Amino acid sequence: MEEIKQQKAQEFEYKAEMKQLLNLIINSLYTQQEIFLRELVSNSSDALNKVRFRRLSDSNFLDADVPLKIWIEVDKDKELFSIEDSGVGMSKDDLINQLGTIASSGTLEVLQQIRQRQQSFDGNLIGQFGVGFYSVFMVTDEITVDTRYIENDSIGLRWKSIGEDKFSIEEIEKKERGTKIYFKLKEDFKEYYEPERIKIILQKYSNFVDFPIFLNGEEINKVSAIWHKKKDDVKEDELNEFYKFISNDFQDPLAHIHLSIEGNVNFKSLLFIPQSAPPMLFKDVHEKSVQLYSSKIFIQDDCKELLPEYLRFLRGLVDTEDLPLNVSRELTQNSPVLAKIKNVITSKTLAHLEEIAENDKGKYEKFFKNFGSLFKLGVNSDWSNKEKITNLLRFESSALPKGEITSFKEYISRMKAEQKEIFYLTGDSREKVEQNPNLEYFKKNELEVLYLSDPVDVFTIPYISEFDGKELKSADKVDIKVSKEEETRLDSLTEDSSKSLIELFKDVLKDKVEDVLVSKRLVESPVTLVVGKEGLDAQMEKMMQYLDKEFTASKRILEINTTHPLIKNLAKMHIANDKNELLRSSITQLYEGALLIDGYLKNPNEFVKRTFDFMEKATV
Ligand code: ADP
Ligand code: MG
Repeated sequence: MEEIKQQKAQEFEYKAEMKQLLNLIINSLYTQQEIFLRELVSNSSDALNKVRFRRLSDSNFLDADVPLKIWIEVDKDKELFSIEDSGVGMSKDDLINQLGTIASSGTLEVLQQIRQRQQSFDGNLIGQFGVGFYSVFMVTDEITVDTRYIENDSIGLRWKSIGEDKFSIEEIEKKERGTKIYFKLKEDFKEYYEPERIKIILQKYSNFVDFPIFLNGEEINKVSAIWHKKKDDVKEDELNEFYKFISNDFQDPLAHIHLSIEGNVNFKSLLFIPQSAPPMLFKDVHEKSVQLYSSKIFIQDDCKELLPEYLRFLRGLVDTEDLPLNVSRELTQNSPVLAKIKNVITSKTLAHLEEIAENDKGKYEKFFKNFGSLFKLGVNSDWSNKEKITNLLRFESSALPKGEITSFKEYISRMKAEQKEIFYLTGDSREKVEQNPNLEYFKKNELEVLYLSDPVDVFTIPYISEFDGKELKSADKVDIKVSKEEETRLDSLTEDSSKSLIELFKDVLKDKVEDVLVSKRLVESPVTLVVGKEGLDAQMEKMMQYLDKEFTASKRILEINTTHPLIKNLAKMHIANDKNELLRSSITQLYEGALLIDGYLKNPNEFVKRTFDFMEKATV
């Protein structure tokens, strides 16, 4: 006999993050414990798909001819729940690194945030984070996993969770390829020993699993590739359930696109727009976007070649006969077939979005609020569809209440007859943009300004220089065109003393500013900073500084409101005595105040000190 047989089980400690995760699962209040079953079945299905995929290239592996199946046994008397599959199995390394570890970093953090937001933590969310297996701890305290990996020379292994912070692995006798997971249910969850209960859950979540599932010996699912059905034969309910099945989402989708394309390239596809964005839309989370099938055989999850980056909010699958059956991952990366499919999907998706925008404004707004930040990036990257994407963009606006969004087209329809440009202003939030002194002129003249408060806007706007022949112009750029009358009115109000005050401003501020000018845009504020003709808008510069520490923002132009009482007072002081210290520090204070509003004042100490000085003088 071999001596390793009697080797003792080896113990492992979970990483700290894993411990916290287990703690979160075990001690949270769940609303739907039943999803543990969906997660187990989904893992078995993944494991079986891997065998199916392997079969495409060779048959030199363990149990090559054994049918691909899932068996579930429940036994109330023996107090046993078990699920077994003839899937790929797990090596020792898999047991440690796949089963015993959280897939993507940051997962725990997000789960904790969700937990904090909503007191009862919905177990449904678990599957979205690649920690589905651990949802079983909702219904049991201890899990055993017996497994044997797909390679001929593999050995049977038993993984056991032993307490909240440890697991063990030992060698066992196991002849067949695949994995068996079994456990005893906690007192409160004995209902899951009832075959009828399990059957209902399986029908709800696992009807689309593409492998036969047996429950206590009886086959219970009807396998069907619904994307191969005719559009009219697929019911809404069926689509919704299918979406939830492949996406791990718990809400119905917002919209779906069902494609059956023949000709230059042949494929069938079911694509869905989710109801809401995943918590880490921009981060590389463990997620399933669009799956690739070849002639009904699953090839790979999350096939990046099927979608441009900006449409990666879509979920679903693509099934094509145009790929060779032994398609490999390397092959998908440069496949002209996939490139063609990507083009078709892109134009169909854009057309579908146009249709929603046209016919169901509320739905489109929902889409845009959730995925707009990602979608907008198409303007920068997809030149051939730039016009369509630009048409589909939406922004908040000074003409609309907070929260409502509008298109360039709608903006133009509201434009005044003499208005030639589309005005916008960027900022951290709608509130900040609204309070920007540079808007005073636009408010006074009732000119609509688009409020661009999404950080992504500063990347996309430079790519859209005009819409429908109307130039896009930032409201903080220097050259405001005012009417002749307004010009003469301003001139008449600008006394000579103010003009010479401006010289003093220049003298005090020296090369801190590019220029000092009489403002045509200010109404209520004494001063503001604007960007020169060639300069980038303020928000854009902030972003550049953030990305590139060496980047120095261009100098601003300080505009002075010569009709403002404070400026008039300073002008009088200036005539009396231009060496007056109060006058000079007032100028610096005005400049730094404008910097502060724009978020550029690096060190507020001097500014605050001066404020105290002024207060002291004003209160004697
Ligand atoms: P995910 O399925 O999203 O990767 P899970 O927590 O559900 O996350 O599973 C973790 C990992 O454990 C899987 O990626 C897989 O490597 C492994 N695993 C779980 N169940 C099985 C199974 N039945 N057969 C083979 N591997 C499995
Ligand atoms: Mg899983």
